[in-house]
Amino acid sequence: MSDISNSSYIKFLIKSGITSFLQNEPNNFYSINSKKTVSPILNKVNDITNINDLELYIKNYTNCNLKKQAKNTVIGAGNTKANIMLIGEAPGAEEDKIGEPFVGAAGQLLNKMLAAIKIERNSIYITNIIPWRPPNNRPPSSDEILQCLPFVQRHIEIISPKLILLLGSTAAKAILTTTFSVSKLRGRWHEYKSINFTKRIKCLVTYHPAFLLRSPNYKKQSWEDLKTFQKKIFDENL
Ligand code: URA
Repeated sequence: MSDISNSSYIKFLIKSGITSFLQNEPNNFYSINSKKTVSPILNKVNDITNINDLELYIKNYTNCNLKKQAKNTVIGAGNTKANIMLIGEAPGAEEDKIGEPFVGAAGQLLNKMLAAIKIERNSIYITNIIPWRPPNNRPPSSDEILQCLPFVQRHIEIISPKLILLLGSTAAKAILTTTFSVSKLRGRWHEYKSINFTKRIKCLVTYHPAFLLRSPNYKKQSWEDLKTFQKKIFDENL
């Protein structure tokens, strides 16, 4: 299925009233049945085996409209050998200016959240679903998410973490292929099965720090999620 027919398919499902399709394994919308349907772009992404090449590839990618208005391509930051990976939504103004994820106000809160569970930020790896800032920080569209999904999927495969913390609904929906809200997804472990590996990665969903800045009364639930995450790190000896 091409990425265009894939996005039409999602729109068709949404228009048909389907609001959730949570499953244990993500759909491989890019799976190839015949040579003819191979997208050369996606094929190339799957050939990339290290972060530097992925970074170069994403920086040279010109098919996403968001890139035209962005100052920087924000790939990821931290320890590329980490067992723990955090995935957010998209860069904001500060991240766009500096070229690093989570360096603005949401990033400051994220730092406090990590410190509260004794995680050093530079010991983990942080990225986003979208590497370019959407104008005025609007949520990325389904088409933009689908377009950038192969990047983050490859990113996960290269980092190959043991645990993933999904920050907010964009990350949860994109990685878990679901339309459930964060409040429905949080509080239990999910599994992400990588498209190119057989490995299953445990994922926890929690509220995005930018959401917590706007709605501080959700911080109590966020703290519960962080403790669940910390316990798993401890139990798995990570
Ligand atoms: N929000 C995100 O989701 N990611 C960032 O990098 C910054 C803010």
